[in-house]
Amino acid sequence: MSRIPVSKSGARSVERDASLGRHEQRFLELKRGLEQIECFCKGTVLKRMMKCGKAQCACATDATKRHGPYFELTYKASGKTVNVKLSPAAAPLYRAAAQQYRKLKTLLNRLDKLSKTILRHQAKLAESKNQN
Ligand SMILES: [Zn+2]
Repeated sequence: MSRIPVSKSGARSVERDASLGRHEQRFLELKRGLEQIECFCKGTVLKRMMKCGKAQCACATDATKRHGPYFELTYKASGKTVNVKLSPAAAPLYRAAAQQYRKLKTLLNRLDKLSKTILRHQAKLAESKNQN
C-alpha cells in the first residue's frame, strides 16, 4: 500500500482520505441491494413425513409409507420456537421469503460493519479538526 505524503503545512490531507470515499461508495452500493429485497420472513420451512399413530397403518412399520409431506415454518420469537403449519401451495412462497430474510440479514451485517469503519474514519476526521 502506498501512502499519500502528508504536508506539514495543513490538515488538508486528513480532510478527505481516499479510503473513506471508497467505503462510502461501497456503502451506497450495498444500500441499493436493500431495494432488491422482496417480501421476507424469518425462519425455516421444514418438510415432514408423519406417522398417523394407527398401529395397523403401514406408516407404523415402514418409514417410506409415512404420510405427507407436511410443511411448517419454524422460527424463534422471544426465545421460544414457533411452528406454523403451511399448505403445500404456501410452502414455496415461505421458503423464498425465508431466503430473502437471510439475504437481508447478510446485507445488514455488511452495512453494519461498513458503517463502523466509516464512523471510525469520520470520528478521526472530526477529532483532527477539533485539534486545529
Ligand atoms: Zn398412517
